[in-house]
Amino acid sequence: MSVLQATLPYTHTDDHFIDGTWQRSTGAGRTEVTNPATGEVWGSVPQASVADLDAAVAAARRAFSGSAGSPASGGSGWRDVAPAERARLLLRLASQVEARAEAISHTNTWENGSPVAETSKAAANAASIFRYFASLAPLLETSDIRPFPDGSAETVVRLDPVGVCALIAPWNFPINLVVAKLAPALMAGCTVVIKPASPTPLSVRLILDAAVAAGIPAGVINLVTGPGSLGDALVKHPGINKVAFTGSTPVGRSIAAACGSLLRPVTLELGGKSSALVLPDVDLEAMSKVLIRSCLRNTGQTCYISTRILAPAARYGELVDMVTATIAVAPQGDPMDPATVFGPSATRAQEQVVREYIRSGIAEGARATTGGDVPSGFDRGFYVTPTVFADVTPGMRIAQEEIFGPVLSIMRYSSLDDAVAIANNTPFGLGGTIFSEDPDAAFALAPRLDTGSVGLGFFASNHAAPFAGRHDSGLGAEFGPEGLRAYLSVQSVHRRIR
Ligand code: NAP
Ligand code: MG
Repeated sequence: MSVLQATLPYTHTDDHFIDGTWQRSTGAGRTEVTNPATGEVWGSVPQASVADLDAAVAAARRAFSGSAGSPASGGSGWRDVAPAERARLLLRLASQVEARAEAISHTNTWENGSPVAETSKAAANAASIFRYFASLAPLLETSDIRPFPDGSAETVVRLDPVGVCALIAPWNFPINLVVAKLAPALMAGCTVVIKPASPTPLSVRLILDAAVAAGIPAGVINLVTGPGSLGDALVKHPGINKVAFTGSTPVGRSIAAACGSLLRPVTLELGGKSSALVLPDVDLEAMSKVLIRSCLRNTGQTCYISTRILAPAARYGELVDMVTATIAVAPQGDPMDPATVFGPSATRAQEQVVREYIRSGIAEGARATTGGDVPSGFDRGFYVTPTVFADVTPGMRIAQEEIFGPVLSIMRYSSLDDAVAIANNTPFGLGGTIFSEDPDAAFALAPRLDTGSVGLGFFASNHAAPFAGRHDSGLGAEFGPEGLRAYLSVQSVHRRIR
């Protein structure tokens, strides 16, 4: 055991978090946690039994409604807590998460190989999401009264929390993709059962510890660990009222189908294959400074990144040279080293997926200008050499399918219309960037990209603005008031005007 591992609060655990305490699993199976930088198993978690899942959902149901039943009768559930009081608890939770920043960062890096340069910001980002949703409390307290058009009566439009929510997260940002769901759910008055991804079941436990320290009542937040089949059982559980999922498009489709037949509200944040549209007036030096953050963040394991670069014919050679040089010199290595830009792939399986895409690019005639089907240079761990492909054409698999690894594809366009057509020619509709020295031209072009978000000269998500995928990238939105709305149900109360 290394010195660092000895300082990680969670390594091997037997527990799920149910009804405010860590409870020993009654499930038989276990899931190992592997450090992708070394390939070594350093942790493990239990796989929940049906009884564990039932207990977690039942705890969330009790915490939602409390003992007295209805809000009107002064119920004692989380849904009955005044929004301002829920907001106060969210602010305390934010501070408690920040107090655990280092443990969150190190556990996260050991789980999925995200460089510490990335994970060291996870707690601060999570805290900022909690604080943003706390700031929306007034939206829940404002009365919304709408007269009938004929003036005969009026309607009070009330907002109720939707109920008990299933929160299912992937492994690429195991803290923030949970908190993006948890914060609006809690603000709305919902209670939750979280199922993290199998490779990353430990860092999220620090959020639970923070919730206990902040005084979030027992049963409001529950956590069970286990494989995809546990996620499936959670989605379909009769005690669940809404599902929020981030992950792959195929799993999202199966969850949507289940929720469709159950008529259960669902929010889906799925895969992407976004484009960086480079205009002929681009400042290549400025672009090189944001290239990795916008196009290969987190070793290419970020849903919204612009991994397809669309280059004007007149600047093609220069652009290929800039991208190649920028990627080739970015340090790859130990994700615990603050200087590391590219870490390993998060899992052995993901490493194999990325390598297969690199081989397919070569087989289809793309030209690797750095990287390619080459050894990683590391004697252990799940490293793939960052790769830039030039001479990519829009029909190639590397141009169409989400790779989720450090691979960029550069395509040539002949006119702006051609560029827009190539950008929109994928099944996805998540992100995208436009690089131009002319902010007005870039802004005018944004509506032509058929995606939920577009960054002009950079990409970052804003907690105050909706993040929403179109087409195969998802349904509904996270963040912003729209993200809170996803955890609320309306009730129109018609009454005579007094
Ligand atoms: P995934 O395989 O879809 O898994 C996501 C989560 O769903 C995991 O917790 C997984 O559990 C669980 N799961 C698997 N099968 C399930 C089922 N049938 N029913 C319910 N839950 C099930 O995705 P991943 O491999 O973890 O993550 C990579 C993908 O996530 C990429 O495609 C990426 O684009 C997407 N992503 C999207 C966004 C976004 O906001 N749009 C953000 C990040 C990532 P197990 O881990 O135990 O299998
Ligand atoms: Mg998966």
